[in-house]
Amino acid sequence: MIVIMHPEATLFEIDNVIAEVEGKGWQTHLSQGSGETIIGLQGNGQQIDPFQLGQLPGVRDTMAITQKFKLTSRAFRPEDTSFKIGDVTVGGNQLAVIAGPCSVESREQLLETAHAVKEAGATMLRGGAFKPRTSPYSFQGLGEEGLKLLAEAREATGLPVVTEVMSPTKVALVSVYADVLQIGARNMQNYDLLNAVGQAQRPVLLKRGMSATIEDLLMAAEYILRYGNNQVMLCERGIRTFDTKYTRNTFDVNAIPTLKELTHLPVIADPSHAIGVRRYVNQVTLAGVAAGADGLIIEVHPDPDQAASDGAQSLTPSQFFELMSQVKTMARAVDRVV
Ligand code: PEP
Ligand code: MN
Repeated sequence: MIVIMHPEATLFEIDNVIAEVEGKGWQTHLSQGSGETIIGLQGNGQQIDPFQLGQLPGVRDTMAITQKFKLTSRAFRPEDTSFKIGDVTVGGNQLAVIAGPCSVESREQLLETAHAVKEAGATMLRGGAFKPRTSPYSFQGLGEEGLKLLAEAREATGLPVVTEVMSPTKVALVSVYADVLQIGARNMQNYDLLNAVGQAQRPVLLKRGMSATIEDLLMAAEYILRYGNNQVMLCERGIRTFDTKYTRNTFDVNAIPTLKELTHLPVIADPSHAIGVRRYVNQVTLAGVAAGADGLIIEVHPDPDQAASDGAQSLTPSQFFELMSQVKTMARAVDRVV
């Protein structure tokens, strides 16, 4: 259930409602937008009569949230969530553009890419230091050395850094260096990890599992928001369908308008993993922007054919530069800026 307070409700009236429901064994979450305050009830407290609650001073309305996801829902927070990562605001009118290599491979590779993507208009830098690879014999990432290089690239370019954390025991280490903790598709339902990043109170990029439904994704985000951490970006990165011969995954463009309606959280499109083929990345990127994505995450490598991971889907810096000019045109068409 949520309790919607009058826009003029006083702090005293808000505290009074919280005390009343917490006294009945419920936990509360506050959503304070520019308009009214909404109090979300969570847990298994004693039964509450919504009519009686509605009579308390300052209460405008009460409403049952019938969806399974509560804190992530639009009912709980009608307006878009936006937050700052360094100087970048995610979830506003400006598209967030995260670009960089799949894996951090070397100082030269990372710095060259970071400068190039910044020049082209990217607003954040990506790069994996801990890599979730299908094969244990594939490159697993540089680990902490890779994190240090990412921090150096942030120093050099000013771009905030997005990097994956694969295990709850590594959240503290990755948080020392990263601005955004990425949860990879393979870990979307690793609940220990979701609890750990929720507690870390850091911005999170939560990627959709390759067989996860929209509701699974929102329920995974719910774990993080439960800790009062609502700095979560949801990422559509392609799902498994039956054709894996010509494309790697299938970009679920449907997920973007659907998520934008169901949740207040920003939605990021990942065309690189979604289609997995370099020459198709531009079209999928533009489709993501047209569908209403709040941002993009795109793999770029100075020499994709030699990349340690995901070279087949990585753009060269000049291809990325060209793509950014197309993105600017598409953004204008949907009232966004880059
Ligand atoms: C990545 O971003 O390089 C990655 C491993 O992505 P995903 O988890 O979506 O496969
Ligand atoms: Mn990758």
